[in-house]
Amino acid sequence: MPTETQKLRILVCGHFLRETRAIVTSGDFPDVEVRSYALDCGHPQLSESVSARIAKAGGSSGEVVLMVAGCLPGTFDTQGRIPAFFRIHRVEQCFTLLADSCLIDELMLEGAYILTPGWLSGWRSRLSRWGFDQATARTFFAESAKRLVLLDTGVDNRSADALEEFSEYIERPHQTITVGLDHYRMVLTRIIQDWRLEKMSHALEASAVLTSRKQADEAMFLDVLTGLTHLSTESEAADRILGLFDMLFAPRRMVYASVQDGHVTDCRAQPLPAPEILECQDWIDSPKELDQDSGGRQGFFLRFTFHDELLGLLKVDELAFPERRIEYYNLAASIAQVCGLAISNARMYQNLQHQAITDSLTGLFNRGYLFERAAQEFERANRYDHFLAALMIDIDFFKNINDTYGHHVGDEVLIEVAHCIRDELRAIDICGRYGGEEFVVILPETGSEMTLQVAERIRLKIEGLDLASGNRQLKVTVSIGVAVMDGDCHSLEALLQRSDRALYAAKESGRNRVSAWPGN
Ligand code: GH3
Ligand code: MG
Ligand code: MG
Repeated sequence: MPTETQKLRILVCGHFLRETRAIVTSGDFPDVEVRSYALDCGHPQLSESVSARIAKAGGSSGEVVLMVAGCLPGTFDTQGRIPAFFRIHRVEQCFTLLADSCLIDELMLEGAYILTPGWLSGWRSRLSRWGFDQATARTFFAESAKRLVLLDTGVDNRSADALEEFSEYIERPHQTITVGLDHYRMVLTRIIQDWRLEKMSHALEASAVLTSRKQADEAMFLDVLTGLTHLSTESEAADRILGLFDMLFAPRRMVYASVQDGHVTDCRAQPLPAPEILECQDWIDSPKELDQDSGGRQGFFLRFTFHDELLGLLKVDELAFPERRIEYYNLAASIAQVCGLAISNARMYQNLQHQAITDSLTGLFNRGYLFERAAQEFERANRYDHFLAALMIDIDFFKNINDTYGHHVGDEVLIEVAHCIRDELRAIDICGRYGGEEFVVILPETGSEMTLQVAERIRLKIEGLDLASGNRQLKVTVSIGVAVMDGDCHSLEALLQRSDRALYAAKESGRNRVSAWPGN
């Protein structure tokens, strides 16, 4: 059974070691260490070598060893050879650690041979271990790979050269997709958070708090506690917490207030309605009320913290058995730590999810997520024969701005322009940073006339931006290319290509204007 001080040792394939280390060392994970196992992808003797790895992995020092693997045979963990300290986090495809499974599936369908920086770094010795000389390698890859695709995580600056060499050696074309560490960070953080919660729940289970409670009660309670893992949002966590306390104490009323940097940002109640946020803020601002536990009260307050930071407050009111208030409070206080961890986990996961889809400079969607959302809209419009329009927006003479005022002013301009664009759109519109100073907007359910109006509104708003500061006189304009989907437009790429051509026309005809595809 895990203990509170126990460490988690994550065992990953050597090809993912650098990425895993980078994430664990840059995050708040002092309770985690990383080791690797060296396996050759897809080779059949896997079960044997994994057994040997387990034997070496230890566990005697009270660690939990978690193997993250996408290459284990399906029968592996059914052979009863896995000791209690050893867990396997199985992923269907190891590449899905680094990028969304939709992207991986798509690449595989296209016949891409996917590579990681780790795999690439030792490609020569790997080929020779496989018994390949150049001729056999060429034959093998000619049959198995239309092209090579490197998922570049950015951990190895030699990856680009290695890809070039490998691609030349086997005579296959190559492509690089920069995936960074965002996706893997999200996966790994989730794994670690789940382990922490499990550890804490077990500790609680073993503690004296529960031993006096009836067994059935206890089983149900632990069920709910376990349910606190795998939550992706704080509202889910808050609902589970309310459910847990409802089950334990049957109060007539409960209020959960979410706290960030000392401010209540949201509150929910059971039953509704929720109180005003200001009312809950008073609980923090007048801690006297919070700490008060004198007679006459029908309930109690609970603080949820993680690493001494206040994350949430729970007001449990009108207990069904107020005479047991102190007893209840003691039980609640012992659970509060697990709740704090669950809230913190959910928040961290939400943040990571946000980061993974957001362009860090402008706050708009990043290119990857922009394409994902745009593709969904394209599918929908295509299937139901609805309108869909795309705007391609490019800042005019942006290079001059950088050259004249410096990059930081250029960055400010990018942020302002991004805000202008977003402000002119509806919530259902999709807007992302396509590249350096280019933005793409997808307008669902929008025909050509309306699209032109939106584009013109954006153009005018940016033209009117006041970016002057001190002596600096700064004006910025954009050119916009507009395209609306029609029966001949069979892919998102085609739609974007049309808007790009229209953008080109807008630039050619003098900039600071909107042009529509197909033009005159
Ligand atoms: P045009 O009107 O033809 O679009 O001219 P332009 O100068 O805007 O176009 P060009 O493509 O020559 O220059 C784009 C510039 O955008 C070059 C690049 O240095 C700059 N850039 C790209 N990303 C960023 C960024 O994140 N911050 C800043 N400050 N500049 C960026
Ligand atoms: Mg440009
Ligand atoms: Mg430009």
